[in-house]
Amino acid sequence: MAGKTIRQSPKAVPSLPARGGGKGNAKAARRKDRKAQNKADAEAGRGALPQWTNAEIAEAFRRLAAANPAPRGELEHINPFTLLVAVVLSAQATDAGVNKATPALFKLADTPEKMEKLGETRLRSLIKTIGLYRTKAKNLIALSRQLIAEHGGKVPHDRAALEALPGVGRKTANVVLNVAFGEPTIAVDTHIFRLGNRTGLAVGKTPLEVETKLMEVVPERYRLNAHHWLILHGRYVCTARRPLCETCIIADLCKWPGKTILSSSAEQSAAHRELA
Ligand code: SF4
Repeated sequence: MAGKTIRQSPKAVPSLPARGGGKGNAKAARRKDRKAQNKADAEAGRGALPQWTNAEIAEAFRRLAAANPAPRGELEHINPFTLLVAVVLSAQATDAGVNKATPALFKLADTPEKMEKLGETRLRSLIKTIGLYRTKAKNLIALSRQLIAEHGGKVPHDRAALEALPGVGRKTANVVLNVAFGEPTIAVDTHIFRLGNRTGLAVGKTPLEVETKLMEVVPERYRLNAHHWLILHGRYVCTARRPLCETCIIADLCKWPGKTILSSSAEQSAAHRELA
């Protein structure tokens, strides 16, 4: 299926910035593009897109796997505990922002015992560059105490026990189960939620609905790494404001009605610059 021509209805293709038409025209065209993209996203969110066939889903994951055979998450960590801490810190924050703060933190506290000893005030000062740091510091100290009291200072390999920890919800538990324990879970973050709905691969109104759908449709052999491939694809290719459909390796399979193909490398560079 690779190399197949991408067919799009002329109506579904947002107009491109006019070449050489001046800054005003380009700006207006970009606004029009965004409007068309929002409309296409709304249509996708209503579940109005054609269904993917099993063969198409398998082909999409075959390509994602071929392009990145050993995908890794981007949150730095050195053991299951520091992974758990990093994921808790990443709520409503970027991985890059968390990675800036955690090396100094993990040097001082890479176990629940050390974290508890560090104390909330010192912890707050180490993570103050991360959003919601006061609440997160409070949760991390309480979480460390709970790990010591109930799990011998170890991160439990158990969803219910993970979700019972302060500041830990289903998404965090899924990441820990997947990355630390090799479970084929799919943690639905903002990128996967958007990607699932936009492409028609897994349409749902809540992260749990999207996760449940993905667990149904992703072929078993791809499930362990599906979470990483989808997050990376959503973060770097199928971005919220300007998806890079022109370089997307699954564009011919994707059902999004707003797929765009930029007509020149100059326009592609402009789109990339806009995202940077
Ligand atoms: S073609 Fe690719 S980048 Fe464009 S909407 Fe579909 S998955 Fe996203």
